Formats: sequence, C-alpha cells, structure tokens
Amino acid sequence: MMERRGRFAPTPSGQLHIGNAFTALCAWLQIRQADGKFLLRIEDIDKPRCRTEYARQQLDDLRWLGLDWDEGPLVDGPYGPYEQSSREPLYEEALQRLIRKGHVYPCYCSRADQTAIGSAPHGLSSEGAAYQGLCRSMSHEERDVRAITKAPSLRFMMPEEALSFEDDIAGTQAYASGDYIVKRADGMFSYQLAVTVDDAAMGITDVWRGSDLLDSTPRQLALYEALELKPPRFAHVPLIGDAEGNRLSKRGRSNTLAALRAESIPPERLVGLLSYLAGWKQQLEPAQPQELIPRFHTEQLNQPIISIRDNQLEWLRFT
Ligand code: GLU
Repeated sequence: MMERRGRFAPTPSGQLHIGNAFTALCAWLQIRQADGKFLLRIEDIDKPRCRTEYARQQLDDLRWLGLDWDEGPLVDGPYGPYEQSSREPLYEEALQRLIRKGHVYPCYCSRADQTAIGSAPHGLSSEGAAYQGLCRSMSHEERDVRAITKAPSLRFMMPEEALSFEDDIAGTQAYASGDYIVKRADGMFSYQLAVTVDDAAMGITDVWRGSDLLDSTPRQLALYEALELKPPRFAHVPLIGDAEGNRLSKRGRSNTLAALRAESIPPERLVGLLSYLAGWKQQLEPAQPQELIPRFHTEQLNQPIISIRDNQLEWLRFT
C-alpha cells in the first residue's frame, strides 16, 4: 500500500496562534492515525514578510505542543531543503514547463487597473477580485510594446467554469477563480505555484490545512493538471474563533503560543481544550497529542469556524 504523507506548512511571517496549533494538531493526528509520515515545510517564499526568528519560534512552539515530524527542518529526509526560499529552482522549472505548454501569459495590469475593472463575476477570492483576463487576449505586438516599459507578472489561465473537488472534511466543493499570478513582476513566485510544486515533489498524499484556503484548492488542482502531477487529497479544518465567531488571530498577541508559553500554561491544557472542541474528548481535561491518535475523527470538523467560549479560555488560563 502507498505510504501516506502529510504536512504542516507554516509561513514565518508572525507567531503561531491557537488556530494554527489546531491545524497542525489535526494534520499530525490524521497522518499518525494512518501510520504515515509527517513533514514540516517552512513557507518563506515571501522573503520581505518572513523572518528566521519566527521560523525558529514556530518549530519550538510545535515541539512544545508535543508534535514531531519525520522530515523537515532539523530532521533529515530525501526531499529537502524544506524552506521554500531554498527551493526556487524547482518553481522556476515548473514555470518554464507551464510557459512551454501555453498555460501562462504576461500581464501588465497594476493592482489599481484591476480594482478599476470592478468586482469579478465570481465574487471575491482570497486574493481580491477575480481577474477578468484583460491581458489574456493581447496581441504579440502589443505585448512587445508593453514589455519595453514594464516588467510583466505571469498569469496562469483558469477555466471559466467552477472546478469541483471532494474535500475529506467539507465534502463536495466548487469554486471558480479568475486567472491568477504565478510569478510577480518583481520575481516572487506565488504561494499557489510554490505550494503545488512542493506538495507534489515531497510526495504529499494528504493536504490538511485551514479552511481559509478552501478556495485556493481549485487553483492548485488546475496547476496539478497543467503540470501533469498527481493531486493529493485535501481536507480543510475549521478556523478557531472567539465567542462572537471572529478569528482568534485577529484578536492579537494574547492567543499566540508564545503568549501562552510566557504565561506558563502547560501545552496539555491547550491540547485538551482543542480536543474537547473537536469532540475527541468528552470533557475539558489536559491531553497529550499521542493519546489522541486513536480518538481522532472528523465528525465535528465540518464547519468554517469553531468558537471558543470565554469560560473555556478561562479554563485554559486560570485553573
Ligand atoms: N503557508 C500557508 C499558511 O501558513 C499554508 C499553506 C498550506 O497549507 O497549503 O497559511
């Protein structure tokens, strides 16, 4: 039987918060229950936004939580380096393949041009209004003229219709997306390209991540197809919110793992609270990731956000 391979792929542009801990815990439990391998990848492709100190802190926080990984930073494995900033040649190679096969085109639109075009037929995506493909039909002559004064970004052509897929938690999903950027004019590769190339190159079979990335999945599936790569299974876990349903990460620093550690809150408390919210434990009590492996299930995970009530946060902090 094929080995199952999962991963957690944080961006070191800030500190991990309780929601990230939940995503990491779910991804880890799912792959441990399936007796597979767990990889950690640092998604530092956006260099100006990322910092080595954050990456170091994230690794520390994950270990504090009680999670381990079989391949990734500080652990040898055949598919390293596990930092995206060191993997750019792979992204370039994939991009060249896309160019050769006619899947991308140069785009000279600025962000302001796109805003002026107005909102998209398919509504907003996580990267703003869907692009309507103005530069898609530009003639070669016009492209040559534009290229004299401006470096283009490169856009990947998406099919017009919504793409559907089976999510291992949320069930059948369908999203449409406009053509999107795979390499910015300043040379930065997009998250969508990097994550797809990496997940394929690292043999990931199970992508577990936050439900904020649900609508990125069809974009990535279209890339898998264009690059003739086998897509993994996808599962999107709920974000963690406060009692009013606002994402906790927006409530600032007090919900980072660093803040909990500074308050000397034992990690078993956080794991216990998350397990209770996910239905793996019937009561609020401290828990270790290891003991949850046989208890892990997804029955209560099919929702965009799980709210923590104030009395539950108090249990975490004050008992
Ligand atoms: N690096 C992304 C993040 O931190 C996660 C990407 C993924 O899991 O596909 O939000």
